[in-house]
Amino acid sequence: MKTFTVKTSQRTEILDITHQIQKAVTDSKVRNGICCVFVPHTTAAVTINENADPDVPRDILMKLGKVIPFDDNYRHTEGNSDAHIKTSLVGSSEIIIVEDGRLVLGTWQSIFFCEFDGPRNRRFLVKII
Ligand code: ZN
Repeated sequence: MKTFTVKTSQRTEILDITHQIQKAVTDSKVRNGICCVFVPHTTAAVTINENADPDVPRDILMKLGKVIPFDDNYRHTEGNSDAHIKTSLVGSSEIIIVEDGRLVLGTWQSIFFCEFDGPRNRRFLVKII
């Protein structure tokens, strides 16, 4: 298992981590298998979506913010319930097929780390089988 650190700079932010994960696959020398990406946080997540237009991740954050507002009479006293809910909806892991030493992603797909309660120092884990 490989651990990566991410330093986020905003409260909500989506960062492309595809390059780091591909490097982990390359370094592992696994040619064919499965790559699991896991985010061990309760207010950050991982997703796969379009990398070509930066407005796509922006729109995802904008819409999540509207559907799950920061303030909504939540009971959790830490003041970050929206971030917990967004994390559960987006998810804590992704599985990507590895073929010939490459992540199998669609032309426009990237793997994104999703910060919902930053800025913070974060981690994500990669296991290649
Ligand atoms: Zn909390």
